Amino acid sequence: MKKIAFFDTKPYDKIWFDKFNDEFEIDYFEGKLTPKTCKLVRDYDGVVAFVNDDIDKTVINTMYNEKVPVLAMRCSGYNNVDMKAAQGKIRILRVPAYSPYAVAEHAMALILTLNRKIHKAYIRTRDFNFSLNRLIGFDIHGKTIGVIGTGQIGRVFIDVCRGFGANVLAYDKYPSKDSGINYVELETLFRESDIISLHCPLTKETHHIINKDSIAMMKQGVYLINTSRGSLIESQSLLDGLTSGKVGAAGLDVYEEESDLFYEDFSNIVIKDDILSILVSRPNVIITSHQAFLTEEALKGIASVTLSNLKEYFQTGTCANEITFGTTQ
Ligand code: NAD
Repeated sequence: MKKIAFFDTKPYDKIWFDKFNDEFEIDYFEGKLTPKTCKLVRDYDGVVAFVNDDIDKTVINTMYNEKVPVLAMRCSGYNNVDMKAAQGKIRILRVPAYSPYAVAEHAMALILTLNRKIHKAYIRTRDFNFSLNRLIGFDIHGKTIGVIGTGQIGRVFIDVCRGFGANVLAYDKYPSKDSGINYVELETLFRESDIISLHCPLTKETHHIINKDSIAMMKQGVYLINTSRGSLIESQSLLDGLTSGKVGAAGLDVYEEESDLFYEDFSNIVIKDDILSILVSRPNVIITSHQAFLTEEALKGIASVTLSNLKEYFQTGTCANEITFGTTQ
């Protein structure tokens, strides 16, 4: 039986992996896969990792030296993997799609909550405060929503926005022909959108795509929604925009410096990240801790595809969901 080392395990991961696994001996580690923990991979046949594991050159070389040929990411994004280091040494597999609906619906949930102040109303009514002061929102119908990245999630999100009667503008480096999507230049999207939602991957090009200059182009009071990757937004510029009122609200499922914080409980500890502390304290900011994917359908999809990726790799030496193509020992 092949042995798999599974990192950054949470109870909700185990439920579905245990249910679907009939092939592997899986050891679940609570800690993340990092240069410090990677020695644990010794004697395993494969490794499963997630979005905030730090899979740098040291991790890749350790896996290579310990003759662990395959890393199965149980997610779609792989910006946390040193792909250059992996080439020819480790085979990297991923789950290209599990539930685009989960993330797209979460993006709309952030918009609706911020706009209609549901997070404020919930707290008020629990204290029998039934005042409506400062709870005014706006109709999404007729507003312009800018979507950056029109892949699987971006497209579902566009459909959701259209359901609300919004006018959708989109930007994608690789626009999809005959899709009926109204593509515009990025600058036009920045200038004309009432709400901007990010659905592109984190790459060198998209790193800090939302920054001081792009925010300056935006409409007064623009809503910024990020369910993609934290480093798409330069956090200090976002904070400055929120302080000046240029940015009307921010819904963040991801954060630039999330890797040491998200998925853990720091409720009794002083967080040393001042930008995050200020963002959390703002009434017009909602932060969720990288949970947009967290639906039953998505968790089932992640577990079944990750396991079938590993099965395919061990049986055939290749996998349709491989993102590296090179020989391993
Ligand atoms: P996808 O690959 O289907 O779509 C990404 C789209 O971005 C593609 O259409 C691509 O052409 C476009 N793109 C690439 N470079 C671009 C650029 N420079 N500018 C504009 N567009 C560019 O991916 P997806 O499944 O739709 O996922 C999108 C992102 O959502 C992922 O990269 C991941 O970071 C994030 N994600 C987050 C969660 C979560 O729980 N918050 C879950 C899954 C995915």
